[in-house]
Amino acid sequence: MTGLCVAGHPDGDERTAEPGSQACKGCRLATEQALRDLPQWWADLADPNHGKRPSQGGKSAERPEPISDDAASLRAAIRTSLVSWCLVLRDDRHITLPDEDEIIGFTQQLILDLQQARDGARYDGDRGRDQRYADDIADVREARASGADVIGALCLHITRHLPWLLASDHADLLVHQVTTLAHQARRAAHPSRPDGVISCPCGTRVALDVDRARIVCNGCGEWGDVGWWMDRVGKIPPRPMKITELSRWLHEHRDIEISTRQLRRWRDDGQLQAVTGDGAGSAQRFDPLAVALVVEQRLGHTARLSA
Ligand SMILES: [Zn+2]
Ligand SMILES: [Zn+2]
Repeated sequence: MTGLCVAGHPDGDERTAEPGSQACKGCRLATEQALRDLPQWWADLADPNHGKRPSQGGKSAERPEPISDDAASLRAAIRTSLVSWCLVLRDDRHITLPDEDEIIGFTQQLILDLQQARDGARYDGDRGRDQRYADDIADVREARASGADVIGALCLHITRHLPWLLASDHADLLVHQVTTLAHQARRAAHPSRPDGVISCPCGTRVALDVDRARIVCNGCGEWGDVGWWMDRVGKIPPRPMKITELSRWLHEHRDIEISTRQLRRWRDDGQLQAVTGDGAGSAQRFDPLAVALVVEQRLGHTARLSA
C-alpha cells in the first residue's frame, strides 16, 4: 500500500511515499540531513560572534557578547522540538528517553580519555598526534560547553527511530518541524551562504534561494534548503572548517595550492575571517567558500603583479 507523501509538497508536485512510509525519499533525506546538522547549528548559534566580524586576532580579553534573543529562542525551539519527539517515542513506543546526565558523563569521560592519549603522544614525543588529540579535546570541550553533545544525542535517538516515525501519523509534522528548524538555524548562524544555480545529480538545474527552506528539484523531487543543496552537489563542504583543514579542501575543490602557514598569516592579518570562535583558538572555523574567494583574489592579484 504505497500512497502519496504526506508532507505537503508544492502544487502539482505530489510524490509517492517510500514503501512502508508516509514520506517520500526526498522528505526522508531532508529530515535525516536536518537531524545531522542541528547539533552543529545549535553550537554555532551559541557563539555570539556568528555572522559578525570577529575581533582582530588575539584580542580575546573583550567581554563576550550575550547571545541574541533570536538565537536564544531558536535554540530553545530546537531543544523543545527534539525533546518532544523523544517523548512521542516514549509514549507511543515505550522507548526510554535519552538520559542527559549520562550523555554529559560520557562526554566528560571522553575528554579524560583523550587527555590521557595526548599525554601518551607527548611522552612519545609525537607532535603530530599530540596536536590531533589537542584538536579533538578542543572539539569535545566545545560540544560540552555549548550543549551540542546533548542535542547530538537527541538527534541520533530520533534518527534511529525515524523509520517508525515516518510511517506514523506524525510524519508530516516531523518532516516540517525538523527541516524548518534546521533551515532557520542555519540562516541565523551562517547568514551569508550564496544564491545561484546548481545542477542536481539527476541532471536538472536548480535555482537556489537562501530564503526558502524547501527548494525542490523538478527532476527527481529531492529537496532541502541552500545548505542542503550545497552539500548534495559537493560544491562546498557542509560545515565551516578549522584552518588546518582548509589547505586540503582548497587543493581538492579549487585546485589551489596554499600552505596552512600562509592561511594562518592571512588570518592573523585579518584577511581571513572566522565564522565561529574568536582569537586564534582551535575552536575557530572558516567558511571554505569565503576563504576560497579571498585566496583566489589574493593569488590572482599576485599573479597579475608578477606577469
Ligand atoms: Zn515528500
Ligand atoms: Zn534532481
